[in-house]
Amino acid sequence: MIQLYIPLNFLGVLYREIKQSLTDLDKMFVLMEREREVADKPGAQPLALAPLPEGGDAHIDSTVRFEHVSFAYERARPILHHVSFEIPAGRTVAVVGPSGSGKSTLARLLYRFYDVGIPGDPPGTGGRITIGGQDIRDVTQASVRQAIGIVPQDTVLFNDSIEYNIAYGRPGATHEEIEEAARAARIHGFIASTPKGYQTMVGERGLKLSGGEKQRVAIARTLLKNPPIMIFDEATSALDSANERAIQAELKGVAQHKTTLLIAHRLSTVVDAHEILVMDAGRIVERGTHQDLLARGGRYAQMWALQQQSPDRLEEAMGM
Ligand code: ATP
Repeated sequence: MIQLYIPLNFLGVLYREIKQSLTDLDKMFVLMEREREVADKPGAQPLALAPLPEGGDAHIDSTVRFEHVSFAYERARPILHHVSFEIPAGRTVAVVGPSGSGKSTLARLLYRFYDVGIPGDPPGTGGRITIGGQDIRDVTQASVRQAIGIVPQDTVLFNDSIEYNIAYGRPGATHEEIEEAARAARIHGFIASTPKGYQTMVGERGLKLSGGEKQRVAIARTLLKNPPIMIFDEATSALDSANERAIQAELKGVAQHKTTLLIAHRLSTVVDAHEILVMDAGRIVERGTHQDLLARGGRYAQMWALQQQSPDRLEEAMGM
C-alpha cells in the first residue's frame, strides 16, 4: 500500500505543479493581451512630474484629470459618457455607484490598460486623461504605470515567498525596507508568526491568505513602491467590521498626500474624500463632498440612509 501511495502522492504533487504553471501562464497571457491594447507613440518620452509652484503637502504635480472621457470596450456598448473630474495632487476622489456603472473602468483607463474613445470613432474623440497636464497617450506607458500604485479588489499573489510578493512593488528593495512596508500595512506580525517568516511560500504550495491579508500584502507592495498616484479598488467581499476598520485606517495612512482614486463599495470609506462622484450607467449623476450630497437629498443621500439602516440593503440597492 505504502509503495503505491508514494508514486501516487508524487503524481499528485506533479499535477499540482503543472496546474499551477498553467495558471501562471494563463495570468501572463491575460496580462500580455492587455499589453497589446495600447502602444507607445513613436518617440514618446517618460511622464514628467514637475514640482508644484506652491509646494505644500504634495510636492509634485500628480494632478489627474479626466476631460469628457467616453469609452467602450466594444463599439456596440458604450460604457462611459463624457466623464469629467479632477483629482488635485495629494487629494482623494471617491467613486460610488451600482455594479456595472463603470467605476473600475475609470481605474483601467487611468492605468492605461485601454485608451479612451469608442472603437471606430474618429481619432481625437473620446476626451483625454492627463497627469500633471500631460495626456497619458503622449508619454510612455511604463512611466505612467511607474507613477501609479494599485491596490486591486482581488490581489494576485505569486507562488513564491511572501518577501518576493511584497518586494514586487520595488524590485531590489532591501529586507529592512520590505519589513518596514509590512509593518505599516499591519501584516508584519502575521508574517513573523509563521515558522519561516518572510520566506514562507504563499499560495497553493504554502500559506493561504484571507482576502483581508492579501489586500494588506498589496498595500505593503504599494507602500514600498511609493508612487505619487494611488488607485484603491475596495474589495466587494464583506469583511467583518474589525477588519474593515483596520483596512480603512491603513488606507487612510497610505492615501495621505497621494493623489488617490478610491473606488468604493462601502460609503463609510468615502466620507473624507475631496469629492465623491456618484456614477450610474457610465455617467456622473451627482457629485460633491459628503456634506453637499447629504444636503442635496438625492441618490447619495438615499444610499447613505440605506447604509445606516442595513448594509445588506445598500448592497442590494447597489446591485452588489
Ligand atoms: P463593480 O462595482 O461590480 O466592480 P463597476 O462599476 O466597477 O462594477 P466596470 O467593471 O467598470 O463596473 O464595468 C462596466 C461595464 O463594462 C460592465 O457592464 C461590464 O460588463 C463591462 N466590461 C468590463 N470589462 C469588460 C471587458 N473587458 N470587455 C467588455 N465589457 C467589459
